[in-house]
Amino acid sequence: EPKPLNLKDYIREVPDFPKPGILFYDISTLIRSADAWQVATGRLARIISAWQPDILAGIESRGFLTAAPLAQRLGCGFTMLRKPGKLPGKTISLKYGLEYGEDELHIQEDAIKSGQRVVVLDDLLATGGTLAASVNLLRKVGAEVVGASVLIELAALKGREKLDIPLNSLITYE
Ligand code: 5GP
Repeated sequence: EPKPLNLKDYIREVPDFPKPGILFYDISTLIRSADAWQVATGRLARIISAWQPDILAGIESRGFLTAAPLAQRLGCGFTMLRKPGKLPGKTISLKYGLEYGEDELHIQEDAIKSGQRVVVLDDLLATGGTLAASVNLLRKVGAEVVGASVLIELAALKGREKLDIPLNSLITYE
């Protein structure tokens, strides 16, 4: 790394988005900085390569931003966990609870060969519902899920406790 760089300085905090009362952590300001994004992806590459994955799985849509380039850099395959109606062919799905209502993620049934080592990536861990569901979905199609990686962890929400695999985050808010 050229010089020490505090990634938190590149996260923009947007009040009342997407709803009144919600504070949104915007990664747009991180990915638009060539230097900061280089540092962030370099740190992710070191952490994720230690798990020796075969496949990186990205959660729609901001999980794709890290998973796809890192897969190429580490010599892994890349697969997508997507919202309903997006993936062609036969898919396996899982519904999971949100604060209000529920959501659903799909994966192509042949996305993973049985026993392949998979790391799952998203931009942010809040309650952990999305990542926990993603781990379960990957297991349904035969993955050995060996780690999870996010840019930002909202530690007070204790999402980490919903996971039974190692989780790494680059930026933590208490
Ligand atoms: P969880 O399921 O852990 O409660 O919520 C995490 C999911 O919601 C992630 O897919 C993430 O993209 C999205 N999310 C929730 N809050 C924020 C936020 O403040 N900033 C960003 N970038 N994503 C968020």
